[in-house]
Amino acid sequence: MDDAALQNPGIEDRDVTPITPTAPVQSPTHGGRAKCLQRLVRLDLPVPRTVALSFETVRGIAHGKMPDIHALLESFNPGAVLCVRPSSEDPDWGGPGAILNVGLNDERLARLARSIGAEAATQLYTRFVHAYAVEVARLDPDVFADIDAEGAAGLAAALAAYEEEAEEPFPQDPAVQLSEVLRSMARAWEGTTARLLRQAKGAPADAGLGLVVQEMALGLGVGECGSGVLQLVNPATGLPQITGRYLSQSQGREALEKGAASLYLERDPRGPSLEELAPEAFSEILTHAARMRRRLRAEMQVEFTIENGRLFILDGVMVTGSSRAAVRIAVRLAGDGIITRQEALMRVEPRALSELLHRQVDPEALRDTIGRGVAASPGAATGRIVFTAAEAQASAARDEPCVLVRRETSPEDVRGMHAAVAVLTERGGMTSHAAVIGRGLGLPCVVGAGRMAFHLRRGELRAEDGRVFRAGDTITVDGTQGAVLAGAPPTVEAMLDDSFRTLMAWADAERDIGVRANADTPADAQTARNFMAGGIGLCRTEHMFFEPGRLTVMREMIFADGPEDRRDALRQLLPMQRADFTELFGIMTGLPVCIRLFDPPLHEVLPVDRAGVRDLAESLGLPISEVSRRIESMGEYNPMLGMRGVRLGVTVPEIYDMQARAIFEATLEARRDGAPVVPEIMIPLVSTPREVEHVRTRIDAVAAAVRAERGRDFDYKLGVMVETPRACLLAEEVARHVQFLSFGTNDLTQMTYGLSRDDAGRFMSEYVALGMFEEDPFHVLDAEGVGELLRIGVERGRRGHPGLSLSLCGEHGGNPASIDVCRAIGLDYVSCSPFRVPVAQLAAAQLAI
Ligand code: PEP
Ligand code: MG
Repeated sequence: MDDAALQNPGIEDRDVTPITPTAPVQSPTHGGRAKCLQRLVRLDLPVPRTVALSFETVRGIAHGKMPDIHALLESFNPGAVLCVRPSSEDPDWGGPGAILNVGLNDERLARLARSIGAEAATQLYTRFVHAYAVEVARLDPDVFADIDAEGAAGLAAALAAYEEEAEEPFPQDPAVQLSEVLRSMARAWEGTTARLLRQAKGAPADAGLGLVVQEMALGLGVGECGSGVLQLVNPATGLPQITGRYLSQSQGREALEKGAASLYLERDPRGPSLEELAPEAFSEILTHAARMRRRLRAEMQVEFTIENGRLFILDGVMVTGSSRAAVRIAVRLAGDGIITRQEALMRVEPRALSELLHRQVDPEALRDTIGRGVAASPGAATGRIVFTAAEAQASAARDEPCVLVRRETSPEDVRGMHAAVAVLTERGGMTSHAAVIGRGLGLPCVVGAGRMAFHLRRGELRAEDGRVFRAGDTITVDGTQGAVLAGAPPTVEAMLDDSFRTLMAWADAERDIGVRANADTPADAQTARNFMAGGIGLCRTEHMFFEPGRLTVMREMIFADGPEDRRDALRQLLPMQRADFTELFGIMTGLPVCIRLFDPPLHEVLPVDRAGVRDLAESLGLPISEVSRRIESMGEYNPMLGMRGVRLGVTVPEIYDMQARAIFEATLEARRDGAPVVPEIMIPLVSTPREVEHVRTRIDAVAAAVRAERGRDFDYKLGVMVETPRACLLAEEVARHVQFLSFGTNDLTQMTYGLSRDDAGRFMSEYVALGMFEEDPFHVLDAEGVGELLRIGVERGRRGHPGLSLSLCGEHGGNPASIDVCRAIGLDYVSCSPFRVPVAQLAAAQLAI
């Protein structure tokens, strides 16, 4: 092949563009492969002659407008064997398979046999006849697969079969062959199935296909011949390592085919290597690969062919590895000065980070999916099925990993969730109890798997395909993909190595919005601290009572007959809360901690089963019938809109009094051995400024009392959690009473849509599929509706109180698209589950770059 010819194209037709260093080849007009090949040509790599056909040209071909094929053929060496490969804008969008060995015919076979031997030449021609018959002439593939004969007899049989099936001889004219190949590939792209497939991967409706026609390095023949791929990193780990595959006497992607016995690349005691067979070509590949990495500013997979010891580079494709590889690759490229830190940050998909923070199902593993639901909390875990929290605890006591399977979870299940390795529920959505707690604990969780049948009483879980799983059977919950798998597929560990920390430190330097964590327990707080969260943005105090022993006291408090009884329960709760807060302040030393006063939807706190009712009856010293009667009397038709949040705080004020006292006493306690603490106290579910005034007066009084008792002073901030549309509308007045507002977008979304956050999972996927909602609004903040309420809240809040701090602490805080909205409306920080903190930090950095 004559490289000089690259500079001297044989045709001028604008439809077909020989790839030269200066040819007008661009991804949006000719596709990514054509553009990449041009870059390789510019690097002066040994790329065989290549011609690019633009999207427009290929579209014309599909509709019968063929460019001048003879002129096209003239841009290659006379008698060259060609291949045609697809070049779409994004390789992920697929496209027709490559067709190799175009141009072979009876006459050229004889000529080729003289240079590379009869056997290799015959094999190439036979392969072309097969590929042409099936992919281009669309003949029955079985006819060709059934041919047993090899060598000359095999070729004769293939040609005869072609003639028989096509009712005409195999075309001998290379111009006819090439134009038919181009036509079939152009048409394949226009087919309905291909279009639907690529649109599912995000391709626009009018996505184009380019084609590249390349002179072939044959890979078969005399001397060392073959083909393969090589990269300088391990795509699975992202660590520097020469990896790839090479197969002697092969072409195309044969070396990559399953079961292909590829050779070692480097010298290896276990067998022959490419380095030994073709040392010069091998070292040349390494040099080119390093050059491509430096100049194309990415880890590249080099596709090469060796022809009698001589090397040709056919293509370069950016290495797409695992998420962990993406982080390591980006950080090392920046470390080597090849890309900037900002570029490194842009190269990692924020969502992919959450994969690193949890163990995952090995991407290579075979998956036996038995059900699907909402991917509520990422990570994968395998365990035996248990159907109750008690069984989960028993299982944990035996050191047996278990998956807690429930219709939905309630606070009584939290102990079981702590004991389980994963959770699966029939009902629920992104913000249901199981989802919120699961994310907080970093526990893989799939909710709303309603297509599986949950027969809890019978102890059976029926898969979507009808298979029955019983208590004790092993399943795997893949909370990243929202799938339930049978058995125990292999998994890969979480990765929090130096590359990860480096990337996060770079993100910190770029972003212009704070990221705090929603943390309720010391373990959550520690996770938040490890991930360099800017503080705690939401501590849901009711979650602090979901631990064994505490729930009953909390129920006693709620059930108390009058203030006297209640005081008793509160006396027990005070030291527990004080200890909780002291520990949180200790872990978060130097960082702000925002504590939300009690906000339990009562149905989440009351016992739901007989055993729970009996426990409560025992501790209250009342008959079961009386306890059941009281539970019934407290029942609400719509508990999420009932006696929740500040409504409970106003009607049973002793609860908030106790919490405020616990916070202030812990403030003094923690200050003794750490930096000064300024707690932030947040009032939930406010709908009128009067509620704020009322609570504030009482909290100020508690603060005054604690100051007087202890003879010590302290500061605190008071804020409102804006969760009702009315609080947004009245934000000006609300803000006058407080130092901060934090938007609770879970409830705000629920109330703006009039859509129950616990029931939405039942129809959400259908609604999204039908295009009624663009996304699940509990997952991605609804910028138009809920976002408008935020804008109103921000503007009016600032009007009422110019120095007001503003933030968001709903689950949306960990979602990149929602963070974008938060930045645009000028929030100071977002707060999300601890394990989503890195995702939010990276997303925020990318938005700022
Ligand atoms: C919210 O409503 O957005 C919120 C964070 O509170 P919770 O999820 O506890 O109701
Ligand atoms: Mg809320």
